[in-house]
Amino acid sequence: MQLYNLKQPDERVNFAEAVKRGLGQQQGLFFPEAIPALKLDEAFWQASFVERAERVLGALLAEELGQDNVSALVRDAFNFELPLVPATAHQYCLELFHGPTLAFKDFGARFLARTLSLVARDTPMTILTATSGDTGAAVADAFYGLPNIRVVVLYPDGGISELQEKLFCTLGDNIHTVAVKGSFDDCQAMVKAAFSDAALKAEYGLTSANSINIARLLAQVVYYFEALAQLPEAERDNAVFAVPSGNFGNLTAGLLAKAMGAPIKRFVAATNSNDTVPRYLNSGQWQPGPVHATLSNAMDVTSPNNWPRVEALFAAQQWPLAQLAAERVSEPQTEARMVALNGEGYLSEPHAAVASEALERQLAEDEVGIFLGTAHPAKFQGAVEQVLNIELPLPPALAAVQDKPILSSQLAADADALKQYLRQRL
Ligand SMILES: *Cc1c(COP(=O)(O)O)cnc(C)c1O
Repeated sequence: MQLYNLKQPDERVNFAEAVKRGLGQQQGLFFPEAIPALKLDEAFWQASFVERAERVLGALLAEELGQDNVSALVRDAFNFELPLVPATAHQYCLELFHGPTLAFKDFGARFLARTLSLVARDTPMTILTATSGDTGAAVADAFYGLPNIRVVVLYPDGGISELQEKLFCTLGDNIHTVAVKGSFDDCQAMVKAAFSDAALKAEYGLTSANSINIARLLAQVVYYFEALAQLPEAERDNAVFAVPSGNFGNLTAGLLAKAMGAPIKRFVAATNSNDTVPRYLNSGQWQPGPVHATLSNAMDVTSPNNWPRVEALFAAQQWPLAQLAAERVSEPQTEARMVALNGEGYLSEPHAAVASEALERQLAEDEVGIFLGTAHPAKFQGAVEQVLNIELPLPPALAAVQDKPILSSQLAADADALKQYLRQRL
């Protein structure tokens, strides 16, 4: 697979190189030169999830990595369930939170970890990544204890849920965690600054596990096909996906699936009050503004990293950008939606509720809605218990870490502070 840098199109790399580099020159994102069309025959829809994922990722990567390698990566990375569960009369939830760290980030992080081991072999590497809550845990879990790999995760101090923090800041060993006095956007800016420092990048073998890394995005393409496969066949051409969005990696993956031929009618990008994209689609003005803390904290992002890829995809496919619906969902609306879903017998957490609310506003009579369940409700135990007035038991993965001490260091939101930290700690 050939990719080019969206900021500097003459920088062209293959997939292995794009995965290792994370970002291109001038902090540009890598983007596929061509998107293959899949043959969506009966056998494709009848196959098991893993077989279907082998075909989807094979179409993208087999030429470069070999189908056997692609199949092995898929079988090893995607070893958990992803049920499409009816939530209301017209809406299904695609539950992407049954992996080891209970969020959809497990798909991308597990695939990335295995891909890096395949393409980088024994070169020592440092994975430097920013998290709005769930990437940190998924990446830490996927890379924990691997030889030759160190992981440094930056997160906004006080900006993630207590249980999210417990999942990845209690591990130690090759996992280094840093609570930054600032927002997720600040963390992301520090990571980007480190990547644009060529000396630092070379010294530590820095690579990124954020959704700027193309391996993560490609891994996520598979579950859009899976949702369609699990739908009753008569509904397969009428599906509208609502994607709870922060950095817009998940939406990018959905658009890639559509570009490969997935019969997805349209997408609704759902944000909380960090609504840079809905405002941009309305007004044409890109005005990030300050970050608001919300219940759906993994979406507290005002400068979404993947937006250039979204625009590039619409341009490459000659889809009008106006086809993309976007909805901003306020805090009271999020809570009301959680209550409404619970009333219908579906227990949800704030991120999925934002998407379900956006879908409710957008869905036409003859359409079927699918919102992505990006995290397990227990990961947001405090918020869910409070809003729904229930008691929510913790699943084993969370119960095991809830009393462990946090091992994180604290840093100012400053690129030089991060440099010093790397010098001292690694
Ligand atoms: C990361 C995350 C999101 C946002 O996904 P993007 O790909 O960054 O848009 C939404 N919900 C949860 C629970 C997340 O962890």
